[in-house]
Amino acid sequence: MKINKDIKNIDEIGENHIGTASNTPIRRDAFNLSNEQKIDVIKDDVRHILETLGLDLTDDSLSGTPMRVAKMFVNEVFGGLNPEKQPNASTFQNKYKYGEMLVEKNITVYSTCEHHLLPIVGRAHVSYISNGTVIGLSKMNRIVDYYAKRPQVQERLTIQIVKELQRILNTKDVACVIEAKHLCVNSRGIRDVDSSTVTSEFGGKFKNNKTKREFLDYIKLETEF
Ligand SMILES: [Zn+2]
Repeated sequence: MKINKDIKNIDEIGENHIGTASNTPIRRDAFNLSNEQKIDVIKDDVRHILETLGLDLTDDSLSGTPMRVAKMFVNEVFGGLNPEKQPNASTFQNKYKYGEMLVEKNITVYSTCEHHLLPIVGRAHVSYISNGTVIGLSKMNRIVDYYAKRPQVQERLTIQIVKELQRILNTKDVACVIEAKHLCVNSRGIRDVDSSTVTSEFGGKFKNNKTKREFLDYIKLETEF
């Protein structure tokens, strides 16, 4: 039966966490509605889900939940879908002629698995070798956060961060490693609390084994202050 086959595919894509493209699959009409209009629609959808589950939405504790969730989806956890939130890409000239790799490590990642809408929590380590242009350090954290604030698969998030930095810095010499826990794996399904997922993307000189090794060694350095 077709419906059963569709459900089987849905489960398989979810449990295997298969992503389909390096660009977030977003529709052309994604921003026809304003944020306020989206919140208004989503709050009714959330209420519908909770009511279908049998909850009493007149209870004081639950009555504000549909609005809270709608605002949180649009403005916070999925706020990075909106290109208006894209961090501005101001760069500087590399006046001090620093020619080695720069590593920004342990950047906190809070994202959401697009297959289950459960949190992905982890750390990103990003590096680049300047070809004359440099970027403010906190800008790298902001770029990670912007792409994390979408329904995501970890592989796509890793690639999107690298591509954006390559574009801004006008060099292929960018790398990113992410280690993260997926609550859809840790708290349900296979329920493996201890497992985590590592993804990496190495561009330009980082494909060279010596450069890659240097980057990975910096990540392993204990940082204590
Ligand atoms: Zn998942």
